[in-house]
Amino acid sequence: MNFEATEIQSQLSDLAKKFVRNEIFPVVENDEHEEKFRPELIQKLGDLGLTGIPVSEDLEGAGLGYQEYARVIEELAVGSAAYAVSVAVTGLPQAILSKYGTEAQKKKYIPRLASGKAIGAFSLSEAGAGSDAGSLRTSAVLHRSPSGDYYVVNGTKLWTTQADIAETIILMARTGGPGPKGVSAFILEKGMPGLKMGKREKKMGMGISHTMEVVLENVKIPIENRISDEGDGFKVAMVALDSGRITIASTAVGVARGALEVALSHAKTREQFGKPISEFQGVSFMLADMATLLDCSRMLVQRAAWLKDNGKPFSTEAAMAKVFATDAAMKITTDAVQILGGSGYTQEFPVERYMREAKVLQIVEGTNQIQRHVIGRNLVSPRTGSNS
Ligand SMILES: Cc1cc2nc3c(=O)[nH]c(=O)nc-3n(C[C@H](O)[C@H](O)[C@H](O)COP(=O)(O)OP(=O)(O)OC[C@H]3O[C@@H](n4cnc5c(N)ncnc54)[C@H](O)[C@@H]3O)c2cc1C
Repeated sequence: MNFEATEIQSQLSDLAKKFVRNEIFPVVENDEHEEKFRPELIQKLGDLGLTGIPVSEDLEGAGLGYQEYARVIEELAVGSAAYAVSVAVTGLPQAILSKYGTEAQKKKYIPRLASGKAIGAFSLSEAGAGSDAGSLRTSAVLHRSPSGDYYVVNGTKLWTTQADIAETIILMARTGGPGPKGVSAFILEKGMPGLKMGKREKKMGMGISHTMEVVLENVKIPIENRISDEGDGFKVAMVALDSGRITIASTAVGVARGALEVALSHAKTREQFGKPISEFQGVSFMLADMATLLDCSRMLVQRAAWLKDNGKPFSTEAAMAKVFATDAAMKITTDAVQILGGSGYTQEFPVERYMREAKVLQIVEGTNQIQRHVIGRNLVSPRTGSNS
């Protein structure tokens, strides 16, 4: 593993940084208040080649890896965690279908997602099935028909990021008995009769990001929209959860970096007792700890990404990166608010937004308690884990 960015990695980071400067920074604070998401920004990111980085070029991706993907997500998150998460979530159907999709499914869905023409979503959680996702109750019942077999799907999903603006949603529903083995994965398409949006959550942070209740009333899903075999839902979901942990960890690195940059600049210019506050050891030690945590986080992310890119098991390392980077982001953003003093608590500065964004990253893609459970379980009984 090389610590120096390759030329292409530097170019991608620069491209994302410029995008954040020109397109996200000018609107992010206002849009956060108005809870306004701009889908056209995803299309622009697609035009720059940043929405399908790890997908093969024949499917309109960039044909690169998670090391590149993680760097781009970090840059986007410096601007707004909501857009970083949006790109990461649109990456989930791409990752799933790249691995488990049929040729027809890959060709039909991946190119529009990889090129930013369409937004994607991943719908697993329900009111009664959060950390214990294997207990989900949304049902999919197979019907045989001479004009083509189909599933009839009924249930209510919660917390589906950008479901209302997504063209392609990966849906987990029960086709068999209780527990994870009874769950199958499907492709839901925007506009399918019976697919309705429920409430949009009012959240503590990431107001830009739409978090939706999804209501499924007798939705007919053709059998060709099932991913892999019946009962493979959790195997399929693990692709999203393992690789998603790398992108959520990169989002945390970006959020933490944004907060540290603001705190550092403030500490160097804000004077009290006749000198910049950065000259007080109490402040400089905080900055030192923030920078150290940030670098450790990025290294864990890059290690997990390197393992994935090189076809090695990375499940434990992705969980470690997710838990460490998101806990670090919570600490770094909280300390950034402290370093700005009263100003840090106001909406004049972005550090309070970064702090609210960091909090949700400890919850999504498997809470940090669940990550520790994954790491602990894999330590006690080592498993090969997923390797692509
Ligand atoms: C903004 C946002 C966006 C989201 N986007 C999506 C999405 O796009 N798709 C999707 O499917 N879901 C999404 N989620 C849902 C998210 O994945 C769940 O909120 C998360 O998995 C936790 O589930 P829960 O909220 O039901 O909490 P619970 O599972 O009820 O957990 C409550 C608390 O108990 C702890 N806990 C639970 N079980 C254990 C255990 N065995 N050991 C130790 N502690 C435990 C948890 O860590 C947590 O602290 C989103 C959530 C949010 C807030």
